[in-house]
Amino acid sequence: MTQPLSALQPGRVITSTGSWYEVDVAGERVQARIRGRFRQAEATTTNPIAVGDRVLVSREEDGNGVIEEILPRTTQLSRRAPGRRVGIEAVIAANVDRAWCVQSAQMPGLNPGLVDRFLVTAARDKIPAGIIVNKVDLLDAFDSDEVPVEAFEWFCDLYHGLGYPVVATSAESGHGLDALRAALQDETSVISGASGVGKSSLLNAVAPGLSVRTGEVSARTRKGKHTTTHAALFPLPFGGYLVDTPGIREFGVTGLEPHDLGHYFVEFTSLLPQCRFPTCTHDHEPDCAVKAAVDDGTVSDSRYQSYLSILEGLRLGDRDTGR
Ligand code: GDP
Ligand code: ZN
Repeated sequence: MTQPLSALQPGRVITSTGSWYEVDVAGERVQARIRGRFRQAEATTTNPIAVGDRVLVSREEDGNGVIEEILPRTTQLSRRAPGRRVGIEAVIAANVDRAWCVQSAQMPGLNPGLVDRFLVTAARDKIPAGIIVNKVDLLDAFDSDEVPVEAFEWFCDLYHGLGYPVVATSAESGHGLDALRAALQDETSVISGASGVGKSSLLNAVAPGLSVRTGEVSARTRKGKHTTTHAALFPLPFGGYLVDTPGIREFGVTGLEPHDLGHYFVEFTSLLPQCRFPTCTHDHEPDCAVKAAVDDGTVSDSRYQSYLSILEGLRLGDRDTGR
């Protein structure tokens, strides 16, 4: 028997473990299953419902829920599902307002290559991105003209100059935590970062008492069927939600044609019409406006190297699928 529409309650998916979901229904945390048909609905993703999804839930006699409908997503952040074939994606979170990439100024140091992969993926998914540079207290051990400090300033100037918000923080000293709170307030934010950059320390410093299980890279495989990435949505005490994701081991950029990659490098976009070939991939073609801009220093060499590296990955991906 189908449920009358009036019996359906709107909710937001807070956690997802693959077969059970915790749904926030007007402040009540309801354990819910999903209808089997969602599982087959999308063959291109490993998970039919993601943390952050807005859903309609029917209730069973024992109080548990059944997710009957997924409301249209404003955004979805996804990545290549680890160990799965090209084209299969894991949706990390849905309805996200901004995706933040956490870096640390030292231990480990800045990783622009990873940041650029992150920015391309977010842009592909049409999610505004931002960068958090943590552990800035460790820079105090250096003079202003020493390499780590210069690298930090170069990094902040580069990404700030490209239009991305860059927030410098220290979970240790408290530097920048107010600015970070202001940046997260009233938004649904996803925060990703390699293990060790201080993501959990930072989140616990920003919102003490928030039980964030960051860094947990547990993936449960049920008879080899679905690899489950554990993610969760946490309400922030000052308003907004935070999506907690397992540490990202592999940030593969997929779902782009090699000649489209340039569109996801924000500083390339105005140059693209000036390349001689409309399908220019900006690596070997003559009369390329991007290469000219790299040569004259308008486009940073670091960004161009990231571009070439991602381009190579996209080409290898194409070969794998035989296209
Ligand atoms: P995660 O793996 O990204 O969640 O990182 P953790 O929060 O577990 O932090 C990794 C290590 O870095 C721990 O030893 C923390 O104490 C340390 N750490 C985190 N934030 C800072 C910071 O702002 N400054 C310094 N000096 N150390 C930090
Ligand atoms: Zn070009």
